[in-house]
Amino acid sequence: LQPVDLQLGDVVAELQNMMRRLVGEKIEIDVVHGRDLWLVRADVNQLEQVVINLVVNSRDAMPEGGRITVRTRNVPEPEVAAFGEKTLTPADYVLIEIEDSGSGIPPDVLPKIFEPFFTTKEVGKGTGLGLSMVYGIIKQTGGFIFCDSVMGRGTAFRIFLPRHRPAP
Ligand code: ADP
Ligand code: MG
Repeated sequence: LQPVDLQLGDVVAELQNMMRRLVGEKIEIDVVHGRDLWLVRADVNQLEQVVINLVVNSRDAMPEGGRITVRTRNVPEPEVAAFGEKTLTPADYVLIEIEDSGSGIPPDVLPKIFEPFFTTKEVGKGTGLGLSMVYGIIKQTGGFIFCDSVMGRGTAFRIFLPRHRPAP
């Protein structure tokens, strides 16, 4: 584990080719970066695993194709509360959002998706460990993650990582 100061936009940019290979031709990937992204402090490999896991899940949710949008932007402290996270101490965050136009997640399934070994995939197609690993990495990095999903429309994962201000 090697936390460094980094810009999420750079991490996503490094992954673009791999993401495109993973999703195939029927899925469009849009990447939209906010301007002047604040730094976060995180392990690059872990963040890459997070993004790849979410993109693969999105791919699996749209076998007929569709669209994945990856967005990054700064979320200043007063705006964070609007996302409904009540326990966290007030701070600035950087948001990375991965949204798909896939199947969506049924409301009764949604509360279970971060549990280890929970999967709706056929035997051999999913371990159910991806999102529990994602959750662990984000918690360890001091952030939090939400999932919003609408059946038949798609799913969005929103990850907030605390802004890191390097010592001068
Ligand atoms: P796995 O991918 O091995 O099934 P994950 O922990 O990555 O395990 O995901 C758990 C479950 O959450 C999936 O089996 C699926 O039912 C649901 N899921 C996760 N991401 C999405 C998504 N983008 N769209 C629809 N369902 C999803
Ligand atoms: Mg998965």
